[in-house]
Amino acid sequence: MKTPDRDMSLQVPRVTKGRYSSLCSDDELLDDDEPTLWQDEVLSNLQGSVYLPKSGRLAQATKEDSSQLAAIIKMGWLDKNPPQGALYYQRRWVKLDVDYLRYFDNDKEVYSKGIISTAFITNVSSVGELKFEVVTNNRTFIFRAENEAERNDWVTVLQDCTRGRKPRNTMSPGSPLAPDFQGNLELRGLRSKLYTVVALDKVFLYKNVEDYRLGVGITSIEMNVGNVKETDRRTFDLTTPYRIFSFIAESEQLREQWVEAMRDAIGEALSNSEVADQIWMEPSNSLCADCGASKPEWAAINLCVVVCKRCAGEHRGLGPSISKVRSLKMDRKVWTEELIQVFLLLGNERVNSFWAANIPPSEALTPSSCSDERRRFITHKYRQGKYRKYHPLYGNQRELNNALCINVQGSDVLETLSLIFCGADVNCSTGMASWPSPLSLANAHSQPLQAELISHNLNTELPRSEVGGDMEALHYSPQPCVSYNGFLFKTASMARAITEHKSREEFSRRWCTLNDGTFSYYESDKNSNPNGSLKATEIVCLAVDVHEKHGYDHTFELCSESERLYLFGTDDPDSHKEWVKSIAKSFIPASAEPLLRLGFERIGRLKCKDGLNLQTSKVGWFALVSSTLHAYLGDNQGEEIHLRKLNELSIQQDNEVLVLVEKGRTLYIEGERKLDFAGWCSAIQAAAGRGGDTLSQQQLTETDIPVIVHSCIGYITQCGLTSEGIYRKSGVNSRVAALCEKFCCDARSVRLREGEHQVDDVSNTLKRFFRELEEGLFTSKDASTWLNAAAIQDESMKISQYQLLFKRLPRVNKATLQALINHLYCVQRFSELNQMNLHNLAIVFGPTLFQTDGKDYTAGRAVEDLIQFYTLIFEVDEQQLKKQLEEITVIIQVREKLNTKFPSTEPGGHFICTVYLEEKKDTAEQHVKIPGSMTAAELTCEVLDRRNITVKDKEYWSCWEVSEKEEMERPLHYQERVLPILHAFGTDSNLLIKKHLAMDMMILYLASKVDASKHGNMKFREERSILGLGLSSGSFHDRYFILNSNSLRMYKEIRSNRAEREWPVKNLKVYLGIKKKLRPFTCWGLTVVYECKKQEKSEKQQWYLCCDTQSEMREWYATFLSIQYDGDVWPQDGLKQTRVNRVMPTDTRHGNVSLIPLRGSENEMRNSVAAFSQDPLALFRDVR
Ligand SMILES: [Zn+2]
Repeated sequence: MKTPDRDMSLQVPRVTKGRYSSLCSDDELLDDDEPTLWQDEVLSNLQGSVYLPKSGRLAQATKEDSSQLAAIIKMGWLDKNPPQGALYYQRRWVKLDVDYLRYFDNDKEVYSKGIISTAFITNVSSVGELKFEVVTNNRTFIFRAENEAERNDWVTVLQDCTRGRKPRNTMSPGSPLAPDFQGNLELRGLRSKLYTVVALDKVFLYKNVEDYRLGVGITSIEMNVGNVKETDRRTFDLTTPYRIFSFIAESEQLREQWVEAMRDAIGEALSNSEVADQIWMEPSNSLCADCGASKPEWAAINLCVVVCKRCAGEHRGLGPSISKVRSLKMDRKVWTEELIQVFLLLGNERVNSFWAANIPPSEALTPSSCSDERRRFITHKYRQGKYRKYHPLYGNQRELNNALCINVQGSDVLETLSLIFCGADVNCSTGMASWPSPLSLANAHSQPLQAELISHNLNTELPRSEVGGDMEALHYSPQPCVSYNGFLFKTASMARAITEHKSREEFSRRWCTLNDGTFSYYESDKNSNPNGSLKATEIVCLAVDVHEKHGYDHTFELCSESERLYLFGTDDPDSHKEWVKSIAKSFIPASAEPLLRLGFERIGRLKCKDGLNLQTSKVGWFALVSSTLHAYLGDNQGEEIHLRKLNELSIQQDNEVLVLVEKGRTLYIEGERKLDFAGWCSAIQAAAGRGGDTLSQQQLTETDIPVIVHSCIGYITQCGLTSEGIYRKSGVNSRVAALCEKFCCDARSVRLREGEHQVDDVSNTLKRFFRELEEGLFTSKDASTWLNAAAIQDESMKISQYQLLFKRLPRVNKATLQALINHLYCVQRFSELNQMNLHNLAIVFGPTLFQTDGKDYTAGRAVEDLIQFYTLIFEVDEQQLKKQLEEITVIIQVREKLNTKFPSTEPGGHFICTVYLEEKKDTAEQHVKIPGSMTAAELTCEVLDRRNITVKDKEYWSCWEVSEKEEMERPLHYQERVLPILHAFGTDSNLLIKKHLAMDMMILYLASKVDASKHGNMKFREERSILGLGLSSGSFHDRYFILNSNSLRMYKEIRSNRAEREWPVKNLKVYLGIKKKLRPFTCWGLTVVYECKKQEKSEKQQWYLCCDTQSEMREWYATFLSIQYDGDVWPQDGLKQTRVNRVMPTDTRHGNVSLIPLRGSENEMRNSVAAFSQDPLALFRDVR
């Protein structure tokens, strides 16, 4: 063939197409298989029709193509019996990879005659002479090999391939193999339609849907070499170098969807080979890190090694807690840009300088090493870390952790790897409140590669040198043998908590023994039969009472699994201590042993859940010491929960769950047994409250600032910086006292709200707090030294003295002082607006902070210094401060704008708006005056009042924002202000008052939940095209979402470690409904609008989430709502309350607007409305 390549490739489609149509008429079928079988009929069509001569470019293409396929385990010639037991066997070229067994006409063919998913093979066995059978659910395939050895080899590899997995009965939806698009499609020239499935980077052809479900198909088309082109209204061509598939869709619309799905598959396929190609760009990555085999297609993503298929198999054997094995070619979802960069940066060579620093030549692997050798080597290398290069800090946990925290802030990823696998704890605490973990630290320092490496090792098991593991022995060691005995005083056991004082008379003297894991008490030390006994394993909690709570000086309580409470006492402190220690030791397992060294008030086990795994609860071991809860959960290391620093602490679900919300995680403690749970709850609640009048005894924020200080500063910053004379003017004394009292009671529960709280009351609450603080902010010990410093003349000496004193302050005082001075610094920066300059503030705060009478200005001078030299004394980052001031400026500007746009108090600013009742039509129109302060609930009541409609129980009348163009609607939250919504309206939007029919279900749903969070799959679509990829993103894709109080995060799939996208929930506006034009899969969709400010410019994004069912949609929507309004989704007393309290309109101009009555009687209207609004989205069903 002399034609130049280019010409040929251009001509190919046309030529083949011509031949194809002539060859494929039914009459000309030449089928060597059973002719009635569609499958083979199709096949001969496929094969007989066209394939191109293999020359020039094509050979190249073939090579590329085969590299896309999963690695072939075995291939060769076999005779295959024709279906239905006919006599003649056909010679077939058969190929097996992990996923499929395929057979071809000959070894040149690209498209198979048959393809059997190995996941569906139920049995493989030898039958008769040289034959073996492959059984699936509905078919048996019989093959005949050329000799015995060959036959046995096929049987072995096939059995290997299918062993250990449960054969699948049917293609289950939602599985990872779930197709992106599927349905019947006509292949030009065939009598019947083929069931066609687009999945990831392949298109599969099946005879029919039943075959698809049973995993037996005709062929698969690799889309990396495909090209899709529309040819006519319903037709399109899928062109590959080997043939053209001309498809006819059932409709024009479906054609569009098929084309889109197949193009997506091409996109997938291309990105696919890209990963491997990219990874191999680093030369050492093109040889297996373990055995040196070339072109390794697998990687252990946490260990950062690229390995061959055979080594990958052994890695898999180590389990995912040691090696996370992923394919470079098939697991594309895991290959983020960062992960690829990590692999390029490290590379097998550099990474082996760590993992393989000391390999004895006798133990090294070669590409031809056998499985046993590989297993031994890989176990030594990664499970035991036998060959690794030991880090100089090895063995020193604290130093390792420290080094890790420092190192992740820079770019040396190899060092991080070395630290992690020499024992540094990736979950260790950095000691920095804003970035508590190495992961957050890496992110904060813009080290995405470090973050990537860490994120894949969050649960990695560290190499352990000793085979068999001492750790396991320790973990499963029997209870330590504790024995102790002596006299104690005991009351009768009880089935309820002991709240009352027990006098000495109620106790009886008993001889008590602790032996062989049993605690027994006897009438006296002469008796051999105990009055009662308690197995250590039955003890669930041991509580140490406060001194002299009962008639005996020292008492403790034991709570048993069967919910009995035992109270023991003694006057001897040493004996008391010894008993507590011994009993605790008898029932606390070795894994939680460090708890025993604490001076606990309460110790025991509780069921709990945390993190993302809310399905299964585990047993946790807890000890309460002052305001710290120490815990050992599952197999994890011990952790501390600082109760005074909790974001939230509540008992939910009818006293059954104690919820502890910390920054970054939530712990649910379950009330498995009522008695000890109640004890824990009250102890934890008491410990989480304010412990006294000193600074450190307050409830604290994450950053060690008292919550009261944090709340007041935050409120003043938001609402008070423009208030004239702020901090100087006094508030209303009774209100200030009440607010102080509230903070004192539980600071965390106080929510300062504009309108509800006055700026001057809040500012005075803050001042009063500091004035009455025990020990003062500067500590009673050092306060005078601070004042002396104020007298120093030399400025720089003075500043360094302040710095010195600052460093000497206790942690909480330090954090509080810095936060307060930072705030005052900001206040005086806006003194033009609030008249509070440096001096004015110092006059107020000097005596307050130093708790002096204010007769001289020394204290004022000190405060003035602190504010004036704020950046120097506290070594403040100027950039940070600049940013903070800019933020405050924005707050002030926004507030000014709001006040001029919606002057809620001035009468002139009202806005007249048309609101519809139940339906958008002229007769349902209402004209309502909307003052700036009007809430959605008030508007709803106003309209209902005018119509004389009484709100019944369980009727959720709401005000809806409806957009006809977008075919979406949103019920306003009852407290939402209406006016800003109106200002943002387009011409196609309007307000509608109607019942929220799903509200009842939503409230029930939310009530059943422990917290407002939800995860699950939804289909996602956005309209923007992804830059750079050039692929249209205009279709719905399955994504996994996690919605919690902070954010909505989107993952490619449930197992993904990293979110693809993340949005702050509070900035999202969620509408019900999706434009039909976008072809949502179901009508249960949400349209989400995200508005954010980026450098003064506001950016608006819109995307779509589609749920499978109505209830799914309702649950997502309810969760959004609950999070956005802190659980307050509907007024507790219904709308009735709102109606009573609401200010009646006083403006007469529109009070008289004549109202057009709704047509028909109220009853008629109700019925029609009820029918219509059964389905809140009915409105959109018929909109064209
Ligand atoms: Zn290898």
